[in-house]
Amino acid sequence: MECMQRITEPILGFEVDLFNFEEALVFTHLHLKENKGLHIVTINPEMIALGSKNDEFGRVLNEADLSIPDGVGIKLALKIKGIKQENIPGIEFSKKLIGLCALEGYTIGLLGAKEEVVNNAANNLRKEFENLNITYVHNGYFDSQQEEIICEEIKNIAPRVLFVALGAPKQEMLISKLKQEMRNTIFIGVGGSFDVWSGAVQRAPEIYQKLGLEWLYRTIKEPSRFKRIFPALPLFLIRVIMETVHESWVKLR
Ligand code: UDP
Repeated sequence: MECMQRITEPILGFEVDLFNFEEALVFTHLHLKENKGLHIVTINPEMIALGSKNDEFGRVLNEADLSIPDGVGIKLALKIKGIKQENIPGIEFSKKLIGLCALEGYTIGLLGAKEEVVNNAANNLRKEFENLNITYVHNGYFDSQQEEIICEEIKNIAPRVLFVALGAPKQEMLISKLKQEMRNTIFIGVGGSFDVWSGAVQRAPEIYQKLGLEWLYRTIKEPSRFKRIFPALPLFLIRVIMETVHESWVKLR
């Protein structure tokens, strides 16, 4: 796509796109209109930490076609590298993408979360977006045998955009598998978004969102998340500082 080239910056070996919200949406829209496929990752420090430890997941992350910076961690990392970057919350980006699909008649599929959650999310989205055509809905709790059946179903129904809410790395690994045979599909891993769209979970109050502290609010509400985020975030930032100092030193030599 010559009219819109990606501009990316590596963070600890993982490419992150420097589009702002609008540009990322236009980039995706162009792919939609041209019947092209995309794997969109909403990248965060936890995923980068996991990708550094798990080669397979790391490869999948770097094979994505668009890695949007989701959350304050990536924003800070880019700031350390001297780049001012807008935070693009994956949940908001996905909602806008759904709006586009409804407006222009592209079909969508929802895979992930608990049965009741994904059904409620689908119903709420249908209420919110007139003409939204959801052609596939399935919960995210299945074994490897059921996974084969689900993959077949998805290939047959072939929604234009598939939203996958299994959490990382599960969602990215499944997308990586599906995209081998669904070259013209747009895939995006959306983490806990269906929980929010179903009404089961509230997003953080706007002030937390504005400050990029939604993760802090979720951690207060759900203290078990604490272990996942700490010490991952400070460690991540220390590693980014070390990488940046090293890069400057190499340039100076
Ligand atoms: N989930 C799922 N299948 C699984 C594990 C998780 O469908 O085997 C769903 C879970 O119900 C939740 C989402 O994946 O809706 C992950 O949410 P989480 O908040 O962990 O994701 P994050 O946004 O932190 O990546």
